[in-house]
Amino acid sequence: MTRVTTTPGWTDRLADLLFTTEPVQRIRLRQASLAIALMAICVCIMQYAAWVTGVDQGPLWWWTVLSLGGLLTAYLLIRCGWSKRLADPSLTVGQMVFAIASGAIGYSMAGPVRGATFPILMIILVFGMFQLRASTTLRISLYALGLFGLTMAAMSQWKPAVYPPAVELGHFLMLACTLPAVSILAGRLSRIRHRLAQQKTELAEALAQIQSMATRDELTGLLNRRHMQTLLDQEVQRCQRSGQSFCVALLDIDHFKRINDQHGHGAGDAVLRGFSDVAQAAIRASDVLARWGGEEFVLLMADARMPPAVAGVERVREHVEALRVPMGERMLQTSVSAGLTQHRPGESLEQTLERADRLLYQAKNEGRNRVLYG
Ligand code: GH3
Ligand code: MG
Ligand code: MG
Repeated sequence: MTRVTTTPGWTDRLADLLFTTEPVQRIRLRQASLAIALMAICVCIMQYAAWVTGVDQGPLWWWTVLSLGGLLTAYLLIRCGWSKRLADPSLTVGQMVFAIASGAIGYSMAGPVRGATFPILMIILVFGMFQLRASTTLRISLYALGLFGLTMAAMSQWKPAVYPPAVELGHFLMLACTLPAVSILAGRLSRIRHRLAQQKTELAEALAQIQSMATRDELTGLLNRRHMQTLLDQEVQRCQRSGQSFCVALLDIDHFKRINDQHGHGAGDAVLRGFSDVAQAAIRASDVLARWGGEEFVLLMADARMPPAVAGVERVREHVEALRVPMGERMLQTSVSAGLTQHRPGESLEQTLERADRLLYQAKNEGRNRVLYG
């Protein structure tokens, strides 16, 4: 088998450096970087406005440094992993509150081009939609409305020529209408997110159940025949490559039909479950037991050699002999016969299993409750 490996390009390496290789951190850092990029655009607009209107550049540079510096700090706190100790490791609320405050200050400085801050304000709120609960987005919207309202009121008092009260009132009413709409959309998105997360959990559970159904026997919980067949095939292939060997045993409960006939099918099922439990407990962690069909089982002992493997199957036989299954006032007793063999180099799985089956048949003929090997 050839493995395809690709060397990461410089863009991948840069992305790893900026956003780390951790999937959740990547999302957080990409969001934070996008916020910085948007703030940079906002800064450019403000600088343009100052250039066009001849506004004093001094305070604007302070605002530029503060706005970009604040978001850059948030990025660094996420990047170095410090924010992981917080309830909101993405720092979404912090970044939004900061960016809105910065937007409001920008609004007070932008003069005639202050309208440019509105779409940016909306984008800030959209950020929250992907991370926050609807109620948090609503609170942030109200905070934005309050802060911008105060800024508008203050500016219309301080510079009524640039910020006429009537225009500011119009701006405020516009925000008062659009911000709740954003909150409603955020609420819908939050519900969709919640439903998707729920469906994902349900799907994962269903998949785990299907996988278990495909590989396990429902009555005993042991591996089923189909899965054991795959494991045995893999084991044969592994041994062909490595030159190692494995042992396999076929086990069959003795006179099981009698239990069914005398005590009913339910008692038979209880004995099958009891057998599976004690046999499973008796084998080594590296051995695999499967229900091969009816009251017949297969034990795969990978890397086992013959003399020690016999002791393993003998242990199962002893445990089964000691097993007592309560049925009403009676205790049901049973035993098991087994044929054990070692896979020989070059032979097929069928040949190995046939040999184990012949040994099992012989064990039955010789009086049952015994392990024959060869
Ligand atoms: P031997 O010692 O020679 O193996 O005799 P036996 O009676 O165990 O073997 P036989 O093949 O005659 O009978 C097996 C019985 O197992 C017949 C079948 O109805 C029963 N059986 C197969 N699957 C189940 C099951 O899932 N539950 C129950 N209760 N019985 C089962
Ligand atoms: Mg039987
Ligand atoms: Mg049988």
